[in-house]
Amino acid sequence: MKYIEVKIYTTQEGLDPLTCILMDMGIAGFAIEDARDFTELMEKKNCYDWDYIDEKLMDMQNMRTSVTFYLEDSDEGQRILKELQNLVIVNRKTSTDFEDNNLIENELVWKIVDDSDWKDNWKEYFKPAKITDNIVIKPSWEAYDANDGELVIEIDPGMAFGTGTHPTTFLCIRLLEKYIEPDRDTVLDVGCGSGILSIAAALLGAGEILAVDIDPVAVEVSEENAKRNGVSEKVRSIYGDLTKGLNEKADIVVANLMADLVVMLTADVAAHLKGKSIYISSGILIEKKQMVAAAIEEKGFQILDILEEGEWCAIAAQFRN
Ligand code: SAH
Repeated sequence: MKYIEVKIYTTQEGLDPLTCILMDMGIAGFAIEDARDFTELMEKKNCYDWDYIDEKLMDMQNMRTSVTFYLEDSDEGQRILKELQNLVIVNRKTSTDFEDNNLIENELVWKIVDDSDWKDNWKEYFKPAKITDNIVIKPSWEAYDANDGELVIEIDPGMAFGTGTHPTTFLCIRLLEKYIEPDRDTVLDVGCGSGILSIAAALLGAGEILAVDIDPVAVEVSEENAKRNGVSEKVRSIYGDLTKGLNEKADIVVANLMADLVVMLTADVAAHLKGKSIYISSGILIEKKQMVAAAIEEKGFQILDILEEGEWCAIAAQFRN
């Protein structure tokens, strides 16, 4: 379906009057971009100690204040667009102001967009990827001829995290490949996202896998992907917060979260391991490697392996018992 994407640039003081006008015209859904949001975000970062801030978010500090919304590309949509264009011209400040401030206050730009563009754009960047000598990850919509002995994981991540091509994910898969004992091990996947690690574990021969996520969409997507790979009998996907309320024990716990969550989870992981089992954690920035490894050792684990890729690392540890 086609829409008219309309963006009106304004000043911070102009935001309230502009959004009131839009609401009076029946436009209720809009996205506001305001450099003040960046300041608020940075204040939150200091409270929560986030590990990673996307570059696009850093760009927010230089952005012009604007309101963006969508109109149907119909006669009615075109009529509203004309009305708004007139309004903006009437409200625009004089050219002298423009030169003084280097800011066009109340400028309107628009373009026609197709919703299928934004739903599927990212698919162009997800291609089959060989992540170990024997494991290939491929998007469900791409063809791939497997070589002898290759395991192919087919994923459609939908709205869940986990195409498998992010270093935090493929480092986990490399460690699963190294530590899973086929036909013997059971696995607990904490923060399963698209279900990719559970599926990898199943294809590598693990017996039973419990996939847990705090995001209900991820639980659904994980179930669908398990079906897609013919392993739904082995993989059970459930909604849950870390391991709270879970009684299940596994030979391997795998968690691709982020450093602070890994540390929180570590306190509880031993209770979910069978004897001298393996704990694989990832989503850890290299600068937090020592801190996380120390927290894992402190809870009675011996560090076996630390794999690194770019700015990320993953840790495999064994419970000393
Ligand atoms: N395992 C996948 C996805 C990792 S992204 C992969 O390796 O690619 C991290 C996932 O953890 C997200 O799906 C997020 O919803 C989930 N998550 C975050 N906090 C969680 C918590 N407290 N309990 C369970 N899952 C959590």
